[in-house]
This record gives sequence, structure tokens and C-alpha cells, in this order.
Amino acid sequence: MKSITCGTTQIILLCSLALFSFRQVSAADNALIHQQIQQKTAAIYSELVAVRNDLHQYPELSGEEQRTASKIAALLAELGLDVIRDIGGHSVIGVLDTGKPGKSVAWRADIDAIPTQDGVEHNCGHDIHTTIALGMAEVLHSLKSQLTGKLVFVFQPAEETYTGARAMLDEGFLTAVQPDEFYAAHISPMPVGLVASKAGYLYADYRQVNLVFTNVTEPQAFIALAKQSIRSLQSVAEDSPFWNTANLMDPTIGLGHPNTIYQNYVVVENRFDVEHAGDALTVSGYVSASNNALMQSINQRLRQKIANSELAASFVQVNNQATQLTYSLQRGNINNAAQLTEQSLQSMAKVYGGGVLKLYGVIPDGRGDDFAYFQQHIPGTYFLLGGSDFSKGIVAMPHAPNFAVDERVIEYGVNYFSSLLVERLGL
Ligand SMILES: [Zn+2]
Ligand SMILES: [Zn+2]
Repeated sequence: MKSITCGTTQIILLCSLALFSFRQVSAADNALIHQQIQQKTAAIYSELVAVRNDLHQYPELSGEEQRTASKIAALLAELGLDVIRDIGGHSVIGVLDTGKPGKSVAWRADIDAIPTQDGVEHNCGHDIHTTIALGMAEVLHSLKSQLTGKLVFVFQPAEETYTGARAMLDEGFLTAVQPDEFYAAHISPMPVGLVASKAGYLYADYRQVNLVFTNVTEPQAFIALAKQSIRSLQSVAEDSPFWNTANLMDPTIGLGHPNTIYQNYVVVENRFDVEHAGDALTVSGYVSASNNALMQSINQRLRQKIANSELAASFVQVNNQATQLTYSLQRGNINNAAQLTEQSLQSMAKVYGGGVLKLYGVIPDGRGDDFAYFQQHIPGTYFLLGGSDFSKGIVAMPHAPNFAVDERVIEYGVNYFSSLLVERLGL
């Protein structure tokens, strides 16, 4: 703002009006509270690292998170938050009620670990997610007198089995708490210090597509036709740089560039399941699409492809039977609310600058996160938080056998997302 110079009185007036209206919505208004957040986070950092080390040492599988949940509940109760336990499994919810009217804004951390060759390990970083959320609760509790409304910290079990969020919803989550907005983050292979998201899909929509033929006389020919038809849906050329995952972070074609190659695509996994039971022959393929319209178009394209084949044409003519098409794997997919995502990225960027990235591309990964089921009820955003330090060989690729996290991500996460929640409460 220092570089703005205004020559005449009239322009000075316009300038100050412009600055004033900017200040109305700016996080700079809350500069002091964001400084306090960073000071408090720094003060409790070593305590948070100890919490993470403890969780890391005692990883628990989906559905078996007793010890983890008890530790979380004890820490939240110690802070003075209201604690709600065991909605849909070993969940813990900590409510920070300021006692003043206002919005209710929720944050989710997942708490389970995964089975690995060496037993059970936190190779998806959920120990880090849990620690960050506990840190946010502590930092924001220390600033309670300056806040309005309610903050809800949700510790969700069984994310890895894609069942925990739905179980919480089925067993009364929305009656226990009624957040207006809901946010979450996951460790990603980006460098530590970066946080990123995008409106809409963050991951490709992933489905199992089943083609069912009844009373076929030449099953091998129909299997070949089905495979070829499903394969033909793929829109990415075999020699495309798309297939090199290193390009996901490429500055010119990667996820962060408006002209990214990771948009408007359909990809098909190179595996098929065939089942021939009774009269029915079922051929299943696995398809990812970067947006809903493309996923919807698959149905029509497959039908046409099959109808146009000589094999099916003669078959349908003879048997007067059409091909059936079903989708049996329809997992919820992360779908970020457009306006809230835009505002969230902006408000964090105003406080923390260049570490905040807006993404344009959709990650071609079928893994996703069952936070998607919460998003079907409550609008909000799911962020990716960088955890790698490539110079030290630390690569935070979830589920990789050598998954590792630079623990400084705890400090970045607590700062970024505490500031986010303060901004979302709308001070
Ligand atoms: Zn995972
Ligand atoms: Zn995970």
C-alpha cells in the first residue's frame, strides 16, 4: 500500500474509500489476533510434538481407536472444552462455546492408522492431523474472550475404511452439533509450508462401471467388447506427461496452473472383473472422471459404443434384450463449496502470503476421503497441507512404505487453520 500515491484531493478521497472498503473484509483488521495465534502456537510447539510422538507410537486401526480417542478426550477436557464421545464409533467432539451469539464452525481431524508390512503404522499422517486439531483447540481456547459463536473440533475414527464419517452421521452427529461450515485438511507430498485447495472436486470421481449382458451365447466375444468399450472412455493419450506423477506439481502443467493438464479427463484403470453367473455376464471396469458432467456422459457413451457394435446389434436383434449398465462403487467424493473455498484461501493468504495455493487441476487419485459425506450436509473446504522436505529425503506421500512427515507441518497447520477458523467466525 505504500506505493500508492494520490495526486489530487479527489483521488485521495477515492483512495481512502478504496482502502476502507478493502479493510472491511481484510484479515489485516484482525492482525493482532493472528499474531497472538502464531505466538501461542510457537509457545506450545514442543508440547504438540510430544503429543504427536505419543500418538505415533500407539497407532490404532480403523474401528479400534480406543486409546487414541481417550487421549484426545482427556486433552480437550483439560482445556475446558465440552466433550462428546462415541458417536458412530470412537469419535471425540470438543466444543469451544464462547457463550456469545455467532456462527458455528467445525474442523475435522481423522485419527486412525493403517495396516502395513510392519504391523500398524500412521502412514497416512492422521497422527499429525490429530495433533494439529488439538493444537488449534488449545490456541483458540486461549483466545476465547476475543471470539464469538462456537468452534467444534471433530475427531473422526475409521476414515481409512471410508466408514467413520457415515457412521457418525447415521448415529446423530447432526443433532449433537449443527455447524454452519465444516473444514478439514490432509497431509500431502507438497513441500512443508504450503497449503492448497480448489473449489469443486479435488480428487477425480472414481466408480466401478458394470456392463451386464443376459443370455449371451458367445461370452468371450462380449467380454472383449465390454473391455474395449470401457477402455475407449479414456481421454488421456498413452504418451501424455499426465502419467508422470512428478508433473502434478509442475509450475506450467501441474495442478496449480490455470491451464493444467489435470482437468477435463477420464481415465480407466487397467483391470477388469468378469463374473458369469446364471444367465448374467457382468464385466466391471474402474473409471475416474475429473468432473461430474464427464462422469455422467459415460453412461451414454458406453451404451452407444455397444449398440454400434456388430456383435451387440445382431444379439439385440435376435434376443430382443438390451445391455444393462450399473454403477456399483459410488463413493462420496470431496466436493468443496466454491465461495467458501475462495474466501478461505484468500483469508489465509492475507495472513500468511505465498504459502497458500489455489489449485485448478483435479488429482487423478481414487483414494479420496470420507469427509465427503460430511460435505453432503455441511458446506466447507478440504485442504491439502504440504509435509515434505525433499532436501532431507522426507516425502509425505500417504500410504507409501517410506511415508515421512517434516514435523514443522504441525506449526504451519495450527497457524493456518486457527487463523482460518477465526476469519470464518467473522470477527
Ligand atoms: Zn489413508
Ligand atoms: Zn488419510
